[in-house]
Amino acid sequence: MNLVLKKAIRLIVCGVPGRQCSYSTRSRGYEVVIGGGGIMGCSSALFLAQRVQPSSICIVERDPKYQQASTPLSVGSIRQQFSIPANIQLSMYSSEFIRNIATHLQVDDNDPPDVQFIPGSYVFLATAEGEDGLRDNFKVQKDQGAAVELMNPHQLKEKYPWINTEGIVLACRGVRNEGWFDPWLLLSAFKKKVLSMGVHYVTGELSAVAVEDKRVSSVEVTTENGNKEHIGCDHFVNAGGPWASQLALMAGIGDPTHSNKVMRAPLPVKPRRRCVFVIKCPDLITEEFPMLINIDGTYLRKEGVQNTFICGVRTPEHLDHDDLELEVDYSLFDEYAWPSIAHRVPAFESLKLQSAWAGYYDYNTLDQNAIIGRHPVINNLVFANGFSGHGIQQSPAVGRAVSEIVLDGCSHSIDLSRFSFERVVNGQPYKEKNIV
Ligand SMILES: Cc1cc2nc3c(=O)[nH]c(=O)nc-3n(C[C@H](O)[C@H](O)[C@H](O)COP(=O)(O)OP(=O)(O)OC[C@H]3O[C@@H](n4cnc5c(N)ncnc54)[C@H](O)[C@@H]3O)c2cc1C
Repeated sequence: MNLVLKKAIRLIVCGVPGRQCSYSTRSRGYEVVIGGGGIMGCSSALFLAQRVQPSSICIVERDPKYQQASTPLSVGSIRQQFSIPANIQLSMYSSEFIRNIATHLQVDDNDPPDVQFIPGSYVFLATAEGEDGLRDNFKVQKDQGAAVELMNPHQLKEKYPWINTEGIVLACRGVRNEGWFDPWLLLSAFKKKVLSMGVHYVTGELSAVAVEDKRVSSVEVTTENGNKEHIGCDHFVNAGGPWASQLALMAGIGDPTHSNKVMRAPLPVKPRRRCVFVIKCPDLITEEFPMLINIDGTYLRKEGVQNTFICGVRTPEHLDHDDLELEVDYSLFDEYAWPSIAHRVPAFESLKLQSAWAGYYDYNTLDQNAIIGRHPVINNLVFANGFSGHGIQQSPAVGRAVSEIVLDGCSHSIDLSRFSFERVVNGQPYKEKNIV
C-alpha cells in the first residue's frame, strides 16, 4: 500500500478485539475529547477549560439523564480517612472545593450553587485485630495534615451514648473536612459551569476509538437516531466510570490478541453493584450521629431530617460479581446490614425499611484504587478511572490532576505517579485499605 493511502485510512477498533473498520473523514476536531460526562468528565472539563479555549474541549455522554451512572446513585460522602497519602490529599483538596462550591462553580450572576453540604464525621471502629491497622492509618493521616482523632471505647460512649462498644478497642474520628452532600447537585453544578464556559457536550454513544501512530486520533459517536459522527482530538480522557474498560478496549487496551504485552493488559475496572437502604429508626436519636463504619464495613449515617438513615454493606466476596442487574438485593439488608447495625446501635433493633436503590461502583479489581495517568503506549489517552467507591469526593482534585497531565505532562499539585497504569501492566497492586 502506498504511504499516502496508508495514512488516509484510520483503523478503528470497534470494542471487539480484532474487529476493525476504516474511515477517512472527520467533521470536527478538539484539543481534548472526554469520554463520559459524569463527575470525572465534567470536573476534568472544568479544570481544562480554565487553561485552554473551552470550545476546544468536548464531552461525549450517552445518557444526559445519567440513569445508571455512578455519580447520582452515590451517597455523596467525603472523608480524609484513607490509608494512602495521595488519597488523603485528593480528598482534602476536594473538601475545600466542595465547601467553597459557590466560589468555584457560580455561573455569572446566577444564584450560587448549593450542594447541601452537611459537615459530619466519619467514625471507623476497630477490634483488637484491627487496632494496629487503624493506628497506622491514623499516623499516615496526621502526617498529611488531616484533622482526625483516636478515641477509646470510654470516649466513644461519652460522645455517642447510643453506641454499643462491645468488642471495640479503638475508634478514629474525623474532626474537620468530612461530611456529605447531594451528588446530583454537585454534578449539575459542574455541568452548568462548564457549559456556561463554552465546553461542548455531545449526546451519543462513544462507539469506536481510532488509534494512529500510537495516538488516539479521533472517536466515533453514534447518536440516538443511529447517525455516526467522527470527532478528531489531540487528547482523549477516559472518564467512562464503571464502563471505562469498554472505552479502553475500543482503543485496543486489553486486546488479548495484541502483539504488544502492554497493550494486552486490560483496564481492571468493572461495574460492581452496591445497594443502599433507607431506614427509619423509631427511637429519636437527638445526639450527633456520624458516618459510622462498623468493624465489618457496614456503614450507617443520618440522611435528611428526623430519624431517617441510610446504610449499606461491604458486599461479601462470594456475592460480588461484575455487571449484575441494577436491582436491589434485599437479602443483603436482612442477612448483613440489619444484624450489624442493630448490634452496634441497639436503637435499630426495630426499624422500618423505607426504600432502597442500587448503583455501580467503578470497581478496580486489582487494588480498589484510582488509575490516573497516561497509557504507556497510547500516550495521549489519559485515565481517570477505578475509584471503587470514593470517586465523587475526589472529583475536584482528579479533574485538576487530569488537566495537569494533559497540559503539563504529569500531575504536579498532588503526586499521583503511584496511581499510574504501569502498576496494572506490572501486576503490582497499590492497595487502599480503607474501602467502604
Ligand atoms: C451506591 C454508591 C455509593 C457511593 N458512595 C460514594 C461516596 O459516599 N463517596 C464517594 O466519593 N463516592 C461514592 N461512590 C462512588 C462514586 O459515585 C463514583 O466513584 C463516581 O461517581 C465516578 O464518577 P465517574 O464520572 O467516573 O462515573 P459515572 O458517574 O458513572 O460517569 C461515567 C459516564 O460515562 C458515560 N459513558 C460510559 N460509557 C460511555 C460510552 N461508550 N459513550 C458515552 N458515554 C459513556 C456513562 O453514561 C456515565 O454517565 C458511590 C457509588 C455508588 C454506586
